[in-house]
Amino acid sequence: LSSKITTAMRTLKGKGRITDVNVASTVKEIRKALMDADVNYKVAKEITDRIKEEAMGQKILIAVDPGQMLVKIVHEELVKLMGSSVQAINLKPDPAIILIAGLQGSGKTTFSGKLAQYLKKSGRNVLLVACDIYRPAAIDQLKVLGEQVGVDVYAEPENKNAVEIAQNAISYGRKMGKRVIIVDTAGRLAVDEAMMNEIAAVKNAIKPSEILFVVDSMTGQDAVNTAKTFNERLNFDGVVLTKLDGDARGGAALSIRHIVDKPIKFISTGEKMDALDQFYPDRMASRILGMGDVLSLVERAQSAFDEEESERINKKIRQNQFSFEDFYSQLQQIKKMGNLKDLMGMVPGMSQAVKDVDIPDDAFKSIEAIIQSMTPKERQKPELLDMSRKKRIAAGSGTSVTEINNLIKQFDGMRKMMRMMNNVQDGKMKMPNMA
Ligand code: GDP
Ligand code: MG
Repeated sequence: LSSKITTAMRTLKGKGRITDVNVASTVKEIRKALMDADVNYKVAKEITDRIKEEAMGQKILIAVDPGQMLVKIVHEELVKLMGSSVQAINLKPDPAIILIAGLQGSGKTTFSGKLAQYLKKSGRNVLLVACDIYRPAAIDQLKVLGEQVGVDVYAEPENKNAVEIAQNAISYGRKMGKRVIIVDTAGRLAVDEAMMNEIAAVKNAIKPSEILFVVDSMTGQDAVNTAKTFNERLNFDGVVLTKLDGDARGGAALSIRHIVDKPIKFISTGEKMDALDQFYPDRMASRILGMGDVLSLVERAQSAFDEEESERINKKIRQNQFSFEDFYSQLQQIKKMGNLKDLMGMVPGMSQAVKDVDIPDDAFKSIEAIIQSMTPKERQKPELLDMSRKKRIAAGSGTSVTEINNLIKQFDGMRKMMRMMNNVQDGKMKMPNMA
């Protein structure tokens, strides 16, 4: 147990303020991480410049490392840039018409099926429309998906006019009392005029309530250019990022948002029909930073630690006045942060170490009981604890004199270590064999 406590103690020795030095190095790391995550260079630079300003001199909690704190600032900045809250799709007119656009292979047909299922589950009567007139297989693909999710599919295999099919589908949908009509369209391998003209004509004919642009997140930087072209032509309402189950790092989300200024509404994470999620900016920010667990650790530390209390204890440590009273108060702080094992598992490099270790939630229970059974004086001056006092405390706390002795030994060890750390910080540490 003593090593667990020293670990927790070490985290309490914060490093004070964010300084120029750690800002510069961390900002560099962050910019690199953003670019590794496919964020456009210009966007990455803009973001990190802004972060640098915000971070300088900001007061940090004693419980967290300044580097981690900085990561948190970046995270918040990314969330802000990606639009803070979840963006719903517009289902207002009845029937609502949703037009799906994007390059071939981006995942439009798959997404159409998923969206149909998603809306059906929320109780809506949905119609899928196959408007890909170039590939007969595309119609079959949509029919199979429609059957799978239990949604009707409208198709005209013989008709080669996408605008006509779309219009017919909508009159059919109205007649059948459909509430949402999802129009899946044809794409090309690259942006070309004919495709753009066709989808623009469909748009004008059916006046969709929502146009969703589907883009493959694996295409990285290209995704941004494609988004730009489609947006100039269609002025779409939202973006669907697909194939995020792969190793795409999500930078496209940030770049697209930044450059076309349209919200990401859904993400697609697999070929199965239920692999669809709403877009959560905070999750994407974590993915982009690739540091999800560190972030939640920082957050938990922040919410649980009372800054003033930590400062008070730190001062006592510096003055070699750390008492059982302070120890008790620190245990309460640590407990507020949640399950000890989870907590330690979030520290980089620690998760492996604690994986098979059993750390009960009440690891501190007997320590707490012992300290509670001490008089305030004894807590301040552990030297007072003679045998008769120890016996009294053992009886009061339901422990034994041996346990109390162990605790005192650990406590003394901690105090010794604190003194040593103070000496190191003050430059007073003497090398033993130089005396
Ligand atoms: P479309 O040409 O835009 O209609 O694209 P499709 O919907 O036909 O998808 C192209 C390929 O990507 C198919 O093999 C899909 O199964 C696959 N696909 C679509 N979305 C995802 C996804 O989110 N993850 C993965 N791993 N594959 C996907
Ligand atoms: Mg398709």
